[in-house]
Amino acid sequence: MMTNNLSILGATGSIGTQALDVCEKRGIRITCLTAHSNDKLLEQQARKYRPHTVALVDEQAAKRLKTALKDTSIRVLSGMEGVCVCASDDAADTVLTSVVGMAGLQPTLAAIEAKKTIALANKETLVAGGALVTKAARDNGVRLLPVDSEHSAIFQSLQGMQRKQELKSIILTASGGPFFGKTRDELAGVTLEAALKHPNWSMGAKITVDSATMMNKGLELIEAVWLFGVTPAQIEVVVHRESVLHSAVEFADNSVIAQLGVPDMRIPIQYALTYPERYESPVKKLRLTDYGALSFQKPDEDTFRCLPLCRSAIERGGLCPAVVNGANEEANALFRQGKIGFLDIARGKSGSSTSPTSPPARWTRFKAKTTTRCKTCLTRTKQQERMCGRTYDNSEFGIRNSEWMGAACGDAPNVYRQDRSFTIRDRQSLHWRVIWLENRNLRRIQFTHFQKSIVPAAAQCIR
Ligand code: NDP
Ligand code: MG
Repeated sequence: MMTNNLSILGATGSIGTQALDVCEKRGIRITCLTAHSNDKLLEQQARKYRPHTVALVDEQAAKRLKTALKDTSIRVLSGMEGVCVCASDDAADTVLTSVVGMAGLQPTLAAIEAKKTIALANKETLVAGGALVTKAARDNGVRLLPVDSEHSAIFQSLQGMQRKQELKSIILTASGGPFFGKTRDELAGVTLEAALKHPNWSMGAKITVDSATMMNKGLELIEAVWLFGVTPAQIEVVVHRESVLHSAVEFADNSVIAQLGVPDMRIPIQYALTYPERYESPVKKLRLTDYGALSFQKPDEDTFRCLPLCRSAIERGGLCPAVVNGANEEANALFRQGKIGFLDIARGKSGSSTSPTSPPARWTRFKAKTTTRCKTCLTRTKQQERMCGRTYDNSEFGIRNSEWMGAACGDAPNVYRQDRSFTIRDRQSLHWRVIWLENRNLRRIQFTHFQKSIVPAAAQCIR
């Protein structure tokens, strides 16, 4: 149903600011706004849109904001708890999730549990916690309305479909990013500045780099699997340089329906907020004759390895998409900090380094052991065992890797009953921690160390 009162998580970002523009034009009331640490912009937004509550994850920034807004009645909260309060705010009927990264998972679940309609821009949340989020949405009778332009296009093209069996496949279009047509050699030394020059869209830095690596399309493939209930094999990725045809669906009779428009996120944002109705928008009219021709090509998956890695992660299922996403969040940030090169983000060579291997050696040793072990860290070092100091009945450890993955996605109940954190080390010394904050719900995966081959190694490690 059409949104009247909206809470925006990630209000200071590219999607958040465009959403505020849409709300202003459509007269949608803003109840809460959140951001990470940009207190200056959040203050301006708070003064202009008059939400009753705002929240910043960063405690110091929240303190500054509280002082700055003391002449108003606006409540200022801090930390992820503050964001979750905004996500489940009584006055909001819809929550726009436009946080970047899987940090959005916890507040998205909070919004779903509070039975808010979700306008979902935060794709990493669905990639990392697809099973959890879709199950929570089903259990709470909540709609997930896509904001991502391709998924909005698919959703729009599906309006009027009578039966699920009518949908044969999805054509997911990709701009190809700034490096389309380049070889691996040419990509070796590309700069951050070049990666941030997207040909058609103006977006936040993380997603712009994801577009350059085509990780974004891989994430979107996984997002589409969860949103539309299709298999990965039913999704074809097609490079379409002009970004005018935002994606299409193929029906049983081979009829293909697509949604077109100029590349401007305010169309999908507005559609998610006014669904099922449509209204005037400030977006420029599409004039096809301005384009003359539209092009469609196959993606180069040998050069842009992140795309096939994501496909293989969702085909393997379980925690694989969460791990690949987490690995990418880390690698993407390291590239933006100038610490690794562009190709290091998906250092995937065909052959041994990307082909599936047996489970990590440590895991195998762990399974073979019959004595009790610290379940909080799962490490072997004396120091870490001392640090943790907890031991558990080994019967709970005798689970297979696949059940472990399944438990994280919520489909193997009663396996884990405690909050915990794992440290896992694979054969290539990839080292990361998986932190479960609540029961068996996967709330956060944190990578504590980076090594080359992070994305493929992560994908093959947890299977
Ligand atoms: P931006 O980087 O522009 O904005 C991110 C927002 O999230 C900011 O408000 C930021 O606050 C906040 N934020 C950052 N980190 C955290 C955190 N750890 N916890 C809570 N809030 C946080 O991103 P975009 O707007 O580009 O993208 C947002 C989401 O939408 C992403 O998932 C992206 O993939 C998706 N998306 C974006 C599109 C676009 O056109 N931009 C298109 C389709 C999907 P602060 O400013 O204080 O750092
Ligand atoms: Mg998109």
